[in-house]
Amino acid sequence: MNPQHAEAFCLMQYECLDCGRVEIFWNSRDGVTPFYITCPVCGGDMPHTDWGDDTYAPDYVPEPGQGIWIDLPESLRRPMAAARVQDFDGSEFEVPEAQRAEVIQELIDTEFVPGVPFLIRWPGRKEVSDEVDPD
Ligand SMILES: [Zn+2]
Repeated sequence: MNPQHAEAFCLMQYECLDCGRVEIFWNSRDGVTPFYITCPVCGGDMPHTDWGDDTYAPDYVPEPGQGIWIDLPESLRRPMAAARVQDFDGSEFEVPEAQRAEVIQELIDTEFVPGVPFLIRWPGRKEVSDEVDPD
């Protein structure tokens, strides 16, 4: 199988321009990934950096808590589109109530299409101490 995208199944580094947080995400499929995400800690821009160090790892097993790129789940296409519309509430671009359903459907059909990247966190906790006593 020849991957269609350069970043297919790659381990990729993202680094926050504001707080310096560095994370290694895994692209779990042969699909595109965003150039930027929002830093989960400070809200800053967190671009994909050191592209040359992307590592092709089709058999990779993620670590607990690690960020994983997947295809946007079908069940989240509508909520993602509705959230995009809602983001503009209170701004000059707020979508009037009468047009919201139409605009949301348009976003579902054009933007939140099958295959667009979606970030999840692998289940589990990374650091587990044997010394933790729940009592
Ligand atoms: Zn940050």
